[in-house]
Amino acid sequence: MEIPEIPNIPAQGFLNNFLQGDGEAEEINEQAVAQARDAMLRQARQQVDTEICLICNQDIVRTEFLDHLEPCAQQNGKDVKETHIPKYRFLSTNYMLDQKMFAIRDELEIEFLEVLWDKETVHKMHCVLCKTYNEHLNGDCVPNLQKQAFLQKMDQMLNLHMCYYETHLELKKEREIEQIRQAHENEFEKMKKEVDQRFPSDNVIAEQNRQAEYRDFRERVAEPNAKELQEYMAHANEEYRRQYEFKKRQVEAVARREAGLMDLNKVIEYRKILRDQGWEAAEEFDKSTFPTPQNVPDARNEETRKWLGAIGRRQD
Ligand SMILES: [Zn+2]
Ligand SMILES: [Zn+2]
Ligand SMILES: [Zn+2]
Repeated sequence: MEIPEIPNIPAQGFLNNFLQGDGEAEEINEQAVAQARDAMLRQARQQVDTEICLICNQDIVRTEFLDHLEPCAQQNGKDVKETHIPKYRFLSTNYMLDQKMFAIRDELEIEFLEVLWDKETVHKMHCVLCKTYNEHLNGDCVPNLQKQAFLQKMDQMLNLHMCYYETHLELKKEREIEQIRQAHENEFEKMKKEVDQRFPSDNVIAEQNRQAEYRDFRERVAEPNAKELQEYMAHANEEYRRQYEFKKRQVEAVARREAGLMDLNKVIEYRKILRDQGWEAAEEFDKSTFPTPQNVPDARNEETRKWLGAIGRRQD
């Protein structure tokens, strides 16, 4: 059995405030942190809805963004290749990370609650801890509250997320290299036009002159053009490596936060409050328990209400 490792690198920027739990500093800055957090959440909510499409320059609802790209390129007479960069950029946004994180947690929570309701369903529950099927049927992994399963699923998902980001950077680099090559080609065409005007005749001598000029030009620019490409690539590799490392630290900070939030006892408590005291009390509990919104399955949907009823029957 392989237990995934959750990286423990210090968080960057504002996440520090929530992740570091540095006692004294936290007390002193409590108000400032609360204000910063409110501002951040407000901003997050505002940004949550749309994403700008750089092909048509329109704001597109995020849930429709991926489906929007190809038809948009077609309508705007662009090659489908033009959708690749926006696609991988979008796939590696923090928004998508949150969505995927939420989906994993939601799935594991529902599976787990199902088992609380009906032990027979344990065979359907995701498991990374039990060594044999019988151990699992016996519920040996239940006390772990799916923490380990969550870490494993999250680890896989984060790897994929970073892979999307890497693809995004690679595609950007390719495009920029293509643009440099195109600029070199344009210079050649410009020179060719001039030369053709200077030697317009349709005879062997003129043709020889033209070819000689083309050759001279090629020889003259070969070295500086190659140098330009090499310099660009060295710069891009360095710059993208730096961006990749930054993204990785960001994602790791999210991972550490999420690992801390995966607490099914609290989710069950949340659901009980929701059942007994209503939506407002549950939201209060949610806010005071979890530093970011949407950490528990949406209690307004029908499936969740079903589980609430189930837990009610079991725990009353
Ligand atoms: Zn568009
Ligand atoms: Zn198990
Ligand atoms: Zn990769």
